[in-house]
Amino acid sequence: MYIPLQLRLTLFYTVIIALALWFFGQTVYAQAEQRAYADLNTTLSSRAASVRLGKFLASPGTLPTVLPSVDGLGTGGVSIEVLSDKMSLLAATANNTNDFTNPTVDNLGSSPIPWDSQAARIALQQFDPLSNSPHGYYSTVTYQRQHIRVYTLANVDFGSVHIIQTARSEQDIEQSLANLRLLLLQGGTLAIIFALVGGWFLTWGVLFAVRRVTKTARSISTSRNFSQRVPTQTRFGKDELAVLATTFNEMLTNLEELYQHQERFVADASHELRAPITSIRCNLDLLTKAPDLPPAEAQAALQDARAEADRMGRLVNDLLTLTRSDASLASLQHEVSLTDGYRKIHRHGQIVDLDSLLLEAFRQYHPTKEQNTTESQQNGPRLLLQNITPTQVYGDADQLKQVIVALLDNALKYTPFEGSVSLALSTETDEAMVTVTDTGIGIAPEDIPHIFERFYRADRARSRERGGSGLGLAIVQSIVQQYHGSIEVESTPGKGSTFTVKLPLANS
Ligand code: ADP
Repeated sequence: MYIPLQLRLTLFYTVIIALALWFFGQTVYAQAEQRAYADLNTTLSSRAASVRLGKFLASPGTLPTVLPSVDGLGTGGVSIEVLSDKMSLLAATANNTNDFTNPTVDNLGSSPIPWDSQAARIALQQFDPLSNSPHGYYSTVTYQRQHIRVYTLANVDFGSVHIIQTARSEQDIEQSLANLRLLLLQGGTLAIIFALVGGWFLTWGVLFAVRRVTKTARSISTSRNFSQRVPTQTRFGKDELAVLATTFNEMLTNLEELYQHQERFVADASHELRAPITSIRCNLDLLTKAPDLPPAEAQAALQDARAEADRMGRLVNDLLTLTRSDASLASLQHEVSLTDGYRKIHRHGQIVDLDSLLLEAFRQYHPTKEQNTTESQQNGPRLLLQNITPTQVYGDADQLKQVIVALLDNALKYTPFEGSVSLALSTETDEAMVTVTDTGIGIAPEDIPHIFERFYRADRARSRERGGSGLGLAIVQSIVQQYHGSIEVESTPGKGSTFTVKLPLANS
């Protein structure tokens, strides 16, 4: 079930606010109620005490039948009755007002005597005239649909027992409590409405940035246009949402680069593969359309097709190597981000004797060269081996040999026959340095930044004619990076180039 986050958040804290308000309202109301009834109780008991201690009860003979309100006994809506132990009325507050706006027991008409006979009886029963320790009872009676609070006190004066009952209507308390309840309800409702509206707008503002990111992501997924970006400015300065937008944009930049790179790579690869396929197809067409071709020409066409097939095979191999090393580089980078030690990382692969690898690669080329020197001085540049320091690095022997071979291959490819190529291995602090120097055609400064790119060829015609695909140096770089090494090139056009591969030493 899809419930929008905005609605969920708004409802969530509206419910929280409503609960808080409910608890607050309950507490305020309960306290007000308790306070009002406690005050009423105090008023009733103190009035009863005043009657008891007052001069009116000094002797039964002097007891007036009407308790005057001037002495404060019958004011404030409190009515008083003094009864004998036979429940006959001895005295009462005057029933002389008809003020119905402020109802008291008095002005309700003929009030019953006593107001609460049950309480009066209990008070009499439990009263001990000997000790004369007055004991009061509170009760509430309903009279003419009004709640009346009654206080009953038994008391002995001059040998006779009296019951004093003080009473007051609860109506005004009930009225103020009802007002308070209404106020709390109205205030609470208003607060909840504010919380709903405020919460709705607040979450709308917060989720606006998230919605922008979603909109951009959706538009990218439908249009495949990675050039779109999410606005990073927010109304409240730099916050988590601005960081989210910036991170999202960074991710888009990376994806865009990757996508373009991938597109270029696929386009280049198809372009490179098309040439040998076309050539093979032409040769095969020739062989099918002209079955009576002289054997020498047919042989040449077949050889041509075979050479192109070989070239295509090499290209596909190179592409495969690159894809694999890309994958292992990606997993390595992931590992680097998970661990923090460089040392831990570069101990990838096995320990490899770099000097032996160099010698192996050298020998691979040298017999040709020796043959060349004996047969013809013009058949290839001289290959020289310079100082070789015994060195161990971590890596894969086959891959590292592939690096040396690719560099030697290039050096020999781009060096005229009368030139020379030298190979050296030395160490520098904690790095092994493989140097391949040639006295070849060199590389123009504007080409140097690009020669490690896939399919880049400074001299397209020359490279192609020598079987180059433009992938050699890209493969070299990705292998070297895989073992945390680096590759540098220095070159002077017309004079020669030096490629230096640096790899961390195994025993550093
Ligand atoms: P290729 O298969 O074309 O040799 P590489 O990736 O090995 O592809 O090299 C890329 C380009 O760098 C080459 O096309 C060439 O122009 C240039 N290059 C590489 N090595 C040398 C070198 N030793 N001397 C001159 N140019 C070189």
